[in-house]
Amino acid sequence: METLIPTINRLQEVFLTVGAEVVQLPQIVVVGSQSSGKSSVLESLVGRDFLPRGSGIVTRRPLVLQLVHVTNDVTWWCLKYAVFLLDSCIFLFQGISPEPIYLKIFSPKVLNLTLVDLPGITKVPVGDQPEDIEAQVQEMILSFISNPNSLILAVSPANSDLATSDALKLAREVDPDGRRTLLVVSKLDLMDAGTDALEVLLGRVIPVRLGIIGVVNRSQHDINTQKSLEDSTRDEQAFLQRHYPSLASRAGSRYLAKTLSRLLMHHIRDCLPELKTRVTVLSAQYQARLHSYGQPVEDHSATLLQIVTKFASDYCNTIEGTARHIQTSELCGGARICYIFHETFGRTLQSIDPLGGLTELDILTAIRNATGPRPALFVPEVSFELLVKRQIKRLEEPSLRCVELVHEELQRIIQHCSSFSTQELLRFPKLHDSIVEVVTGLLRKRLPITNEMVHNLVAIELAYINTKHPDFTDAAQVSASVNNIQVCCEISGSDKIALTLWISHCQAEALDGGKRWKNEKTGEEKTLAPGFSSPSKGQAINLLDTAVPVSRKLSAREQRDCEVIQRLIKCYFLIVRKSIQDSVPKTVMHFLVNFVKEHLQSELVGQLYKQPLLQELLIESQDTAQQRTEVAQMLEALKKANNIISEIRETHLW
Ligand code: GDP
Ligand code: MG
Repeated sequence: METLIPTINRLQEVFLTVGAEVVQLPQIVVVGSQSSGKSSVLESLVGRDFLPRGSGIVTRRPLVLQLVHVTNDVTWWCLKYAVFLLDSCIFLFQGISPEPIYLKIFSPKVLNLTLVDLPGITKVPVGDQPEDIEAQVQEMILSFISNPNSLILAVSPANSDLATSDALKLAREVDPDGRRTLLVVSKLDLMDAGTDALEVLLGRVIPVRLGIIGVVNRSQHDINTQKSLEDSTRDEQAFLQRHYPSLASRAGSRYLAKTLSRLLMHHIRDCLPELKTRVTVLSAQYQARLHSYGQPVEDHSATLLQIVTKFASDYCNTIEGTARHIQTSELCGGARICYIFHETFGRTLQSIDPLGGLTELDILTAIRNATGPRPALFVPEVSFELLVKRQIKRLEEPSLRCVELVHEELQRIIQHCSSFSTQELLRFPKLHDSIVEVVTGLLRKRLPITNEMVHNLVAIELAYINTKHPDFTDAAQVSASVNNIQVCCEISGSDKIALTLWISHCQAEALDGGKRWKNEKTGEEKTLAPGFSSPSKGQAINLLDTAVPVSRKLSAREQRDCEVIQRLIKCYFLIVRKSIQDSVPKTVMHFLVNFVKEHLQSELVGQLYKQPLLQELLIESQDTAQQRTEVAQMLEALKKANNIISEIRETHLW
């Protein structure tokens, strides 16, 4: 059993080297309000006069004391050093600091114990103390006593009401059942004449599960007159015999020391199995973390090639949809490109009105302009070409936008791959940046080429209006009509249009004539806007006026002409739109996406795999190097801890 406390002390040392707070070791933590006698209690436990004591906030940093019982008192120097260390800390730190100081004390006069001395609970800042001193100290104390593996030694002076004890109040906060709180009532000698602490010590005022122990420490006067601890302990016993004879054997510093040692041992025994599990779990976690940092670079060429290859394949996989790290929150990579093609681009094209931006007046003006000085017999074909081209041009802008969107997505995949997929890249920030730069450069080089191709796709459509296109159904329909009126000759595509236009013209004329006749019958007059009156009335036409967008009723023939042209434009436009909707994605895939996919690896290797660059590119980030060292140290500590715990035989536990 006696080996348990040294075991914990050894564990503490092991974790001390890595400054780890990850493992909460069993220890005794002393809490109490300022000047309640905490340091004095500790000192009597240690049996050495070395802690700074006095009025005001003297203890400013947590002090972890490891008491180690030895048969020979050979370590005086250690104590001297400790005192020096404490003094310097006290003078160095104006405020208080939560960073503990660790002290190890070897002495034949101590029992094996681990104790933590904390600054006292204060209420009002004095002197150089910060405004929030109360909160600071409270937080620090709580951080120690909320450790479920700590035993709380609550110190409360006998000369103040126990009900107002800050120490007990804090202890209750973290240990409501009182499973790990021991109460020490100090300053028994300072009680008012005629009062005693018997009721308190017997637990009749406030019961404390682990016990209540009264002590008498040295007064300030004793300290000033350098009363030895031996004398003090003897006097304490005498005092207890005199004032509390029934309790004398269960009070005093010596009894406190024994009780604490026993409690701590039981406590450790209870904590150990869980501690063992915790160390095992942490070991596994840290091992995994260490693994994730990779090994320090030895072969630079191989490492660079490996990372570049990995990046390139991750990039391609993200496009292909075969990447390991598939995102579920949003579309990315190939899926997003598909979305751009079929949803964004496709829908935009679909939403374009084939006749959008084309008024009847525009059409009429085009027809008139195309006929020149001759009055047209039928609607001139030139006007159809002119107008349909104008509509086709409108496909270029969304097509170029599609290229832009895909380009943006390819750019995004770089970020995706460099942060999600290629973990190793985080280790080498220079290489990371260079890879991003090279791929961005490649994308930027391909962008104008792809744009040019897409521009050409539209230009190609504009270059030749293929009225013989098999899907140009309107023309085909007309060819049927032409057959009906027995025109038995080979009719070419453009002739078909001409015929269509002519036929519709004739039909319109007939309709017009019929209407006019009707009009005469009913006496109605067709209304036309001023300046655009019917030529049949013998008035001059001012062509300039026709451009003025004045709403007017069209003549039946004009109406007919417009409709014919509109129908043809619509039909032809749909053919072209279908073709553009199909060819733009193909062009983008070929000139941009697939090109980048195929050339990424060679481009990266070509630009980065250069001997003088290697060393520089593979400089590890400060973070990684440091983290790897820290994690390695922690892992080492955990291994040692595991060994130490394993050394304890099961027999020690039960
Ligand atoms: P801390 O602030 O809680 O660490 O308190 P200290 O241990 O520094 O003690 C504060 C003051 O009270 C010092 O002057 C001690 O000498 C004095 N003191 C502590 N315990 C006792 C005691 O039991 N009896 C008497 N008379 N004085 C004590
Ligand atoms: Mg103190």
